[in-house]
Amino acid sequence: MRILISNDDGYLAPGLVALADALSAIADVVVVAPERNRSGASNALTLDKPLSVSKAGHNIYFVDGTPSDCVHVALTGLLDYRPDLVVSGINQGQNMGDDTLYSGTVAAATEGFLFGIPSIAFSQVDKGWDHIDDAARFALNLVKHKISVIETPFLLNVNIPNCHYGDLKGVKVTRLGKRHQSEPVIKSTDPRGHPIYWIGPCGQARDGGEGTDFHAIAEGYASVTPLQVDLTHTQQLETLKKVWQ
Ligand code: MN
Repeated sequence: MRILISNDDGYLAPGLVALADALSAIADVVVVAPERNRSGASNALTLDKPLSVSKAGHNIYFVDGTPSDCVHVALTGLLDYRPDLVVSGINQGQNMGDDTLYSGTVAAATEGFLFGIPSIAFSQVDKGWDHIDDAARFALNLVKHKISVIETPFLLNVNIPNCHYGDLKGVKVTRLGKRHQSEPVIKSTDPRGHPIYWIGPCGQARDGGEGTDFHAIAEGYASVTPLQVDLTHTQQLETLKKVWQ
């Protein structure tokens, strides 16, 4: 098996290093990841400048672009083969509910999925990299034993609690929850007195009920959510056709 690994925290992030080490036990692994932290980059592609690809070691490349750039370049020009799997992460911090729309971690996996390749995004719930090797062991186990039954291509969003592998309660297959709207921007001034604005924290869970990723994580389980990328609001199709056709 050949696995392409990317992330949005940058190619030196401990989560990516742990994931690549773990998956190397069962696959030929190549890393193509951003040169710096691009968390929150969503699905952005860089169209206003060319991209540089640099080699940092055997089968490790970094790109001066976004997570989606990395996977896009890898699949359409850099690699001379088609990977069997694209894996993104392990992200520093959860990607649950509406986070998935902003996440560069999920975006890197989505880019693989858009090219028809099975793809998985892994995130660790709490920041700080505690128990990252346990999270990588969980990811390895999932890739090794759990994905062969899924119809391909698939796109999975996986969140892993920060705990010892043996303390994990298990796995719940979940739907995405929903968050309240984000907190307001934080206003300040730069040293020259110009106003500046920091984007505020994300909102708390609004739909964190049973069956959601939020609920599974709160109960001590890892969550696995199958994603799709069709944003069509199917229920409104007929209403709009009546009005405008
Ligand atoms: Mn990140």
